[in-house]
Amino acid sequence: MAFFRRNRQAATQTPPAPTSSAIGNGATLVASSAPTAPPIFAATMMDYPLTIQHIMERAKRYFPNRELVTLLAEGTERTTYGAMFPRVERLAAGLAKLGIKKGDRVATLAWNNTRHFELYFAIPCMGAVLHTLNLRLPAEQLGFIISDAADSIIFVDADLLPLLEKVQASLGSVRQIVVMNGSAMTSAPNMPQVLDYEQFIADAPATFAWPTLDERDAVAMCYTSGTTGNPKGVVYSHRSAFLHAISVTQADTIALSGNDVALPIVPMFHVNAWGLPHAAAMVGSKIVFPNKYMDPNRIAQVMHDEKVTFAGGVPTIWIGLLQVIAKRNDLDLSSVTRLVCGGSAAPRSLIEGLDHFNLPIIHAWGMTETSPIGTVARLKSNLQGLPYQEQLNYRAKQGMPVALVDLRITDIDTGKELPWDGVAFGEVQVRGPWITGSYYHDTNPADKFVDGWFRTGDVATIDPEGYIEIVDRTKDVIKSGGEWISSVQLESIIMGHPKVLEAAVVALPHPKWQERPVAVVVPKADTTVTPEEIQEYLQTRVAKWWLPDKIIIGMPIPKTSVGKFDKKVLRAQLAQEVKLGE
Ligand code: ADP
Repeated sequence: MAFFRRNRQAATQTPPAPTSSAIGNGATLVASSAPTAPPIFAATMMDYPLTIQHIMERAKRYFPNRELVTLLAEGTERTTYGAMFPRVERLAAGLAKLGIKKGDRVATLAWNNTRHFELYFAIPCMGAVLHTLNLRLPAEQLGFIISDAADSIIFVDADLLPLLEKVQASLGSVRQIVVMNGSAMTSAPNMPQVLDYEQFIADAPATFAWPTLDERDAVAMCYTSGTTGNPKGVVYSHRSAFLHAISVTQADTIALSGNDVALPIVPMFHVNAWGLPHAAAMVGSKIVFPNKYMDPNRIAQVMHDEKVTFAGGVPTIWIGLLQVIAKRNDLDLSSVTRLVCGGSAAPRSLIEGLDHFNLPIIHAWGMTETSPIGTVARLKSNLQGLPYQEQLNYRAKQGMPVALVDLRITDIDTGKELPWDGVAFGEVQVRGPWITGSYYHDTNPADKFVDGWFRTGDVATIDPEGYIEIVDRTKDVIKSGGEWISSVQLESIIMGHPKVLEAAVVALPHPKWQERPVAVVVPKADTTVTPEEIQEYLQTRVAKWWLPDKIIIGMPIPKTSVGKFDKKVLRAQLAQEVKLGE
């Protein structure tokens, strides 16, 4: 707000005599020597609120015929933006009828489907806060999050209702449960009242007077997935979600457009599906929601059937897709122009493998606290003429910060800013209009914020082109005899072995070297691989002291609720079983 006040004030003052030349169309560039001279122009742009209501109105008006498709166990359920928004209005009216007020938290526990998408508009546009619950969390954490956020209402997919039954004791703040996509039946004794979603809509008034919202009002909240500790709530504003949605549509980021048929595989409970739903509505993309049907065969099939042009997901999804398309030759995926991969590092071999099928991966980095898009690894114009392998060097990095995000790396021990030489690595710190400035209920912990920068806990290098490469998380980096070893780089190299499907590397304590790397390797289906083969493969690719002390084949790698390697759990498992240096 201060920005506008300052400019309006300037408008009332007398402009100084310009001392510089005109720069065309009547505008004048002022290079006055007077240090306090006000600008010659008063900036009189409208103070228009950046709210999701604008996105809703836009989609309603301009894209009514654009399709929204949800996968079902058999076939699809199809609707349009035009058919959806009258239901959104009723949902908002129904919430108001239940007494939901501005700022109240209204939760969803649901897969990626059109009803969930309706709630992405109904809840924030009526002034409440959309709180997406992660359906893969252990009951204890789910219960903690519901009571920490004090959710008033929970919209739940019918098949996920048993998850709420398990956390009945934590539903003290919850007035109603509304069941979507199935029957609203529960026999659990202490549940809040359970309603049917379609009945809820049918019983609600058809019209609703949408409130005037401030762009700084909360739009949504999401808890971190707790890879490195207890979940922490992050609250997004209408403004941050709006600006983030614009960013997703920029040509040099994800370039989501009205021509796209978008397949958001990243869950809608995880950082608002990377902001894709709101961005898609802003530009009128057709959306194909996978619901819970995310096995690679079904994903590949729907890409073929719906002529998907863009999809977003974590590397595990793309590793699975690559396996499928290597085996099936009945699929035409030529409609796909790009796959965005984020959440953990995309191994170089994965990018290469998908390139082979003309499915270019765009690597992106971010986190719950960054809404999430922070960086995107598109090739800058000056890099596009490089030989393929050199291009891959950049594409396998996490990329440059998108416009409006500032990024730096600082020394892990001293906090001093580090050079962009592609060698020095330090903690990634970011700031920008969609980077959180605090946590819900834990306002500004000193270890997470410094001088207006958010401390990500990720460790990276920045090269002279400005591309970051995530080396590790501060908690995962391996410190061996005073030297750092990147677990992420080791994993990426091991996953380049033709017989390897997945590899995770963690540090285990060592009596002499403090910590040494241990790798867990999962071979591809119908393949075997030995530790010796992996050692031999690594020998020509990494420094000798990076070679893992132990390579374990075939042990399943534990995954987090969003499909990333769960190194906290893996470390704990291995610490029981493996003693190094004995
Ligand atoms: P949590 O922090 O609870 O695991 P997030 O989903 O917010 O949940 O995880 C964000 C983290 O995921 C980042 O801090 C980073 O460590 C990792 N990450 C995200 N994208 C990438 C990527 N492209 N490459 C490597 N790591 C990534």
